[in-house]
Amino acid sequence: SSVCTNEPTELVPDGCASYSTIDDLNKKLSPLLNEITQTTDYFGYYRLDLYGRTCPFWSDDEGMCGNIACAVTTIEDEKDIPKIWRAEELGKLAGPRASHPITKAPGEPSPLGGALGTEREESCIVEEDECDERDYCLPEDESAGGRGDYVSLTENPERFTGYTGAGAANVWKAIYRENCFDQHEEYEETVRQAPFGSLLKHSNPAAMEFANIIQEKGKHELETKDGQQKLLDLDVNDECLEKRVFHRVISGMHASISMHLCWDYMNQSTGEWGPNLDCFMSRFKGHPERAQNIYFNYALLARAVAKLKRYLNTYTFCSGDYYQNRLTKSKVLKLATIAASSGSIFDESLMFKDEMLGFKEEFRNRFRNVSRLMDCVGCDKCRLWGRVQTQGYGTALKVLFEFDESAAAGENPILRRTELVALVNTLDRVSHSLVALDKFREMWEARQEEE
Ligand code: FAD
Repeated sequence: SSVCTNEPTELVPDGCASYSTIDDLNKKLSPLLNEITQTTDYFGYYRLDLYGRTCPFWSDDEGMCGNIACAVTTIEDEKDIPKIWRAEELGKLAGPRASHPITKAPGEPSPLGGALGTEREESCIVEEDECDERDYCLPEDESAGGRGDYVSLTENPERFTGYTGAGAANVWKAIYRENCFDQHEEYEETVRQAPFGSLLKHSNPAAMEFANIIQEKGKHELETKDGQQKLLDLDVNDECLEKRVFHRVISGMHASISMHLCWDYMNQSTGEWGPNLDCFMSRFKGHPERAQNIYFNYALLARAVAKLKRYLNTYTFCSGDYYQNRLTKSKVLKLATIAASSGSIFDESLMFKDEMLGFKEEFRNRFRNVSRLMDCVGCDKCRLWGRVQTQGYGTALKVLFEFDESAAAGENPILRRTELVALVNTLDRVSHSLVALDKFREMWEARQEEE
């Protein structure tokens, strides 16, 4: 049987990219992504209306949607937390509040500052407010009348916030419900356990044992001709490819968020931040498909970045500083070039083949609903990163399904600044998740040796 998908060659001509192909690609992209997201003004700031939107699906009064009080209450309920630092740490959890760095008096140094940045021109930052019918996500500045605020993504890292309980669970539940293309059944994780071995380095016996722990029962090994294990698709027989892809995208996003909150976790008895192996095991043990879906999303996002290679040649990076613009552009072009050099890691042409079925429109509408659901997330920082990442996946889908790689300049849809920033930051998040996965494997091995 195919180890990549139910139908061989479903997404990638050579039978899907192997985990090792993606690991190798990530070794090259990860430092570059880190540099782009951490050191450039362009990719370090994101504009969104973080506080002005209300959840369009249910009322906060019903207690179904999480809110800050709920998140804080959950942590305050932890009796072990020493009072002395509780409020202080919770304050830190909220992170610096969004502000609008454009508001500066003439002559003042740019609030975006930094070694590279100088002045920042408003004209360059104004975003397209118009929603394009080809968008898979809602424009960040769509909110009525609101222009949104700038948020420093580097100062508000995605990490443990303590947001949990019914509020968070209901958002996830509603997100997965969007995957029911033809019916609204109760959310149920319908994926079958799949092999996990090669995620964790086949050659290493301890790693294989770790794989079995994660997977609980060794299960069958699926190997390809060249002996490499491939990315598995969901094995839900009666579901169409598009529906499976939709599920993988949201499950992979969920898994990546879980990975980050476990990687940058706050020990609630000491107040210290750091990786929490037990947190990781509790969320990934017995669910190999969650880590696999992170790989899947990596392939999807990297392919979208690769596809933009030509488009980005003529893209204007407005940061108000000529040298910074050139530097940013050269880094992003390098990113797209390396991503493109990894060959076929995702073949989007196999999706939405039959336009008559209307799947594409439904797919797009459902993805927009997922991005609307971010307004129901009752924790500012989770909402920020939820919005960035849904926008990032939405942009990837727009590029994959609406862009022509070989089209001349001006023939493709416009890519808003927020879309490009979200796409690159989302790839960075997923890239970081793969690094964290590897580190958790090492931690687990070390723990085994100690016992
Ligand atoms: P949850 O992660 O809430 O999962 C709910 C159920 O979904 C699980 O019981 C399981 O059945 C299923 N499930 C879990 N993972 C997957 C998967 N990958 N694929 C398919 N099904 C799955 N918390 C933070 O600390 N920091 C954040 O930055 C953060 N961002 C968030 C962003 C969003 C959009 C949302 C909705 C929540 C966010 N949270 C964040 C909360 C966090 O995701 C969890 O909801 C919370 O930690 C409680 O976890 P849980 O163990 O109850 O299961």
